[in-house]
Amino acid sequence: MAEHDLVGELDAFLEHHEPDLIDFRRDLHAHPEVGYSEHRTTRKIAQRLEAAGIQPLVLPKGTGLIADIGGGADDEATVALRADIDALPISDEKKVPYRSVNLGACHACGHDVHTSILLGTGLFLARAAAAGALPAKVRLIFQPAEEIAGGALDVLAAGGLSSVDRIFALHCDPKLEVGKVGTRIGPITAACDAIKVQLSGRGGHTARPHLTADLVYALGKIITELPATLARLIDPRSSLSLVWGRVNAGGVGNAIPDAGMVEGTVRCLDDAAWQAAPEMLKNIMESVTSAYGVAADLSYVRTVPPAVNEATSTAMVAAAADRVLGPDAVVQAPQSLGGEDFAWYLQSIPGSLFRLGTRRPGSVDEIDIHQPMFDVDERCIAIGVQVMATTAMTAIGLAGGAVHAAGPADGLIDAGDGPMVAMASGNPGGVRLTGPLLAWAGLRRPAGDASRRVGILWARKENLASCPNQASSRAGPATCLPRPAGRPRMAGGFIA
Ligand SMILES: [Zn+2]
Ligand SMILES: [Zn+2]
Repeated sequence: MAEHDLVGELDAFLEHHEPDLIDFRRDLHAHPEVGYSEHRTTRKIAQRLEAAGIQPLVLPKGTGLIADIGGGADDEATVALRADIDALPISDEKKVPYRSVNLGACHACGHDVHTSILLGTGLFLARAAAAGALPAKVRLIFQPAEEIAGGALDVLAAGGLSSVDRIFALHCDPKLEVGKVGTRIGPITAACDAIKVQLSGRGGHTARPHLTADLVYALGKIITELPATLARLIDPRSSLSLVWGRVNAGGVGNAIPDAGMVEGTVRCLDDAAWQAAPEMLKNIMESVTSAYGVAADLSYVRTVPPAVNEATSTAMVAAAADRVLGPDAVVQAPQSLGGEDFAWYLQSIPGSLFRLGTRRPGSVDEIDIHQPMFDVDERCIAIGVQVMATTAMTAIGLAGGAVHAAGPADGLIDAGDGPMVAMASGNPGGVRLTGPLLAWAGLRRPAGDASRRVGILWARKENLASCPNQASSRAGPATCLPRPAGRPRMAGGFIA
């Protein structure tokens, strides 16, 4: 398929396959399975992939699967697309023909939609591969157990990201109308950790607090001092918040108890702050409690880190959505303090999670995800396939069109059929790419050397050999570095 036909090819594919993908989604919706019990779901996906000549690999725990499409036999996948496949343990209260038949389970987070979109994207890309129009390998990751935050770690443990340079995922968003796509550079979802402080000390009569550890008073200090001191020690831009939800101590008004506890959550949008939080909390807690002679025990349970979208990957999503849906389709997604285990992948490699509009235009209902009445405008499935497939093609350099990357590596990259030129747009090096070079990314100053800027050049595989000598910089000549080992699609680093 010629590059400029991508949109037309997608339209033709979807004209034929959209009803089938909607049926597939309805079947999953009627048979939801919660984390690690997605056996039927896994089987259904595998059947459909195998029928298209794709060989999936089921993950070791028996649910969820990974499948590679395109490229040569020895190629390694370079772009991964991920869908989560699990349902929630709540009842489906909708009156629809595809209502859940599994009591107490419901696809109320739209993962049935994510799965159907990834299946459709995979089938389209497999067709492109069969036509010789997919020179790089794309990995489909059908991940189990997102809602219980274990599935992404299983995929990583199974080597699911080995050799992958970039990863993309979408999530249904009932606040956005169908046809809209929400993107955001930087944190899009938050870390959410569970914290519990247990105090113990000598109890006694409230008439003689000096003979006790006065545990309730100490607990009060913990409750107020921990959030207050933390807020003074952590950069406020991290949006870190410690909020208590439960407190318990004592049984009667005139006796000081010998034990007490307080529980809450720590939410955070910044990775560095998230990493630092447990140690900081422990230190604050110890300094507060040491004054009162109580023993304190802190339990800090990590769930997921913040999902931090990388700028270039996010620009690729926005360019893809712009291309297939038009310039008004892409909106800025707000930050959410909810958690999403896609964050684990973004800790390893660059990528982007985007919001897919699922709301029926004109709908007056405000039904959020995780609600028993949640449903989508099913036109979002075809739209999701269009955006996902075009994003994958953009990431491997075949979609044409312009990628506008904002953020640290700001620039406008024309990756169309003709000579490809990266224009300086907030690009201090003024790096210019010509000929077969596709894109550059990650322009930054190396640590400790303010005089240089280092970036990475990307090119089509067949042009790799001729690439490194074609970069130049308005700030002076750009020296190209050898291509790093094990990065087959990278043309080389450069110093401007
Ligand atoms: Zn959810
Ligand atoms: Zn979800």
